[in-house]
Amino acid sequence: MSASNHGHELTKVVVVGGGFGGAYAARQLLRRTRGAVDLTIVSATNYLLFAPLLPEAACGAIEPRHVVVPLRQMLPHARVVTGVVDQVDVHARQAHVVLPDGVTRTLEWDRLILAPGGVPNIIPIPGLLDRAVGVKSLAECIWLRNHVIALLELAESEPDEQRRRELLTFVFVGGGYAGVEMLAELEAMVKRILRYYPRIERAELDWVLVDAAPRILGELTDTLAQYVTDRLLRRGIRVLSRTTIEHVDGTQLRLSTGERLQSETLVWAAGVAPSPLVKTLGVPLERNRVPVDEQLRVLGAPNVWALGDCASVPNAAEGGRPCPPTAQHAQRQAKRVGLNVAASLGFGVAKTFRHPNRGAVATLGVGDGVAQLGPIKLRGKVAWFAARGYHLLALPTFSRRVRVALDWTTQLLLPADIGQLGQLGHPPRLDDAAAAGTGFHALDRPHPHAGSRIS
Ligand SMILES: Cc1cc2nc3c(=O)[nH]c(=O)nc-3n(C[C@H](O)[C@H](O)[C@H](O)COP(=O)(O)OP(=O)(O)OC[C@H]3O[C@@H](n4cnc5c(N)ncnc54)[C@H](O)[C@@H]3O)c2cc1C
Repeated sequence: MSASNHGHELTKVVVVGGGFGGAYAARQLLRRTRGAVDLTIVSATNYLLFAPLLPEAACGAIEPRHVVVPLRQMLPHARVVTGVVDQVDVHARQAHVVLPDGVTRTLEWDRLILAPGGVPNIIPIPGLLDRAVGVKSLAECIWLRNHVIALLELAESEPDEQRRRELLTFVFVGGGYAGVEMLAELEAMVKRILRYYPRIERAELDWVLVDAAPRILGELTDTLAQYVTDRLLRRGIRVLSRTTIEHVDGTQLRLSTGERLQSETLVWAAGVAPSPLVKTLGVPLERNRVPVDEQLRVLGAPNVWALGDCASVPNAAEGGRPCPPTAQHAQRQAKRVGLNVAASLGFGVAKTFRHPNRGAVATLGVGDGVAQLGPIKLRGKVAWFAARGYHLLALPTFSRRVRVALDWTTQLLLPADIGQLGQLGHPPRLDDAAAAGTGFHALDRPHPHAGSRIS
């Protein structure tokens, strides 16, 4: 697995994770060393998922394929392995990889960069896992869009009032970026397409945001977070702060306030926990994250660097406080890791990580958003434009930028698309008479009282 350069064995570098941390670190390292390393990047998907644009993919503003950047195109000089690393042996300098067909491989390394990101932060609530859907992957977000449209289709012909309530109540848990943006974008999408569903009244829709913290969007200043809360309330969205879900039973949800909700839709966006892979490192963790020094080297594991959502990274620009789990921070850390690993190979000098926070942006549906860019705070349309521009510039590869810009233009000029494509990714069996050839896709959980008449 090693390559050579003019007869010299190249140093083997393995990068685990092809997201903001891993892919950008690999790119920086290859640039600084001018390709004088044998770099393998292992990732569960063959693309970098540009998560900040997921809510816009979920509401149909962007084609799903355009929010991912294939690693082979982003890193033409790296060896890309699509697979899951389930164990890292720091002493033997080996990473154990499971390939999509179940075959396992061992990769050897001289330097290891760990950036497997995070997994949904799950709280043990009875019934939660049977009902909730997350927002971390493209599959979940596209499922969510199709699910919401499927519910509108059902509600349009549903005579029973209680069932209509279940179909038209949408509950989101988690008031961070992911939950707020996802809810706001989907609510705006539904408002936009409601004219195609004449039997559904706007007043029947109940969008609910549940969050345990005293206020939503802890990443933003009080003023901007309050602005977002006011905007959501004005749009008729209920924001239930200091509230948790206590019990889930089918479509029945019980909140900590005692309120009971009936909903076919429960979206779980209550933060991220570090990837379980970090436990295999055998180093003491810091609040489950991998502790690293100011140059992002893993404490207690020589020649291993860690970054992104899986690591606790001190930021010298913020008095050594650990960075929050954001794409902005992961990308900045990646540049520093790339340079520091190159320095360990004789290319340049390793330096401390410091990143003065550049601010934050969030979109809340077409024409609405908030942005905090240094001392400048923006709201509404201007913020929405700023957020879109910010994301566009941050997208890797020119071709992805063009595709996303074209999607946005199309969205603004043409009517919304309401095709319900839930059957994608679920091809029917050849002998499934109801589905084969018709494109019919049943709701994942059919209603127990199926069979009543359409009004
Ligand atoms: C819906 C949503 C919206 C967001 N919006 C914003 C925003 O507006 N601004 C912002 O700054 N941040 C935002 N974030 C957060 C941001 O996406 C993350 O902080 C960032 O992606 C972290 O980068 P990472 O490299 O650590 O992890 P990721 O980007 O998640 O990458 C991890 C990679 O590792 C791979 N992987 C995982 N486990 C393994 C394994 N065992 N073996 C091999 N590969 C593995 C994954 O497939 C993935 O490619 C958002 C997140 C979500 C979910």
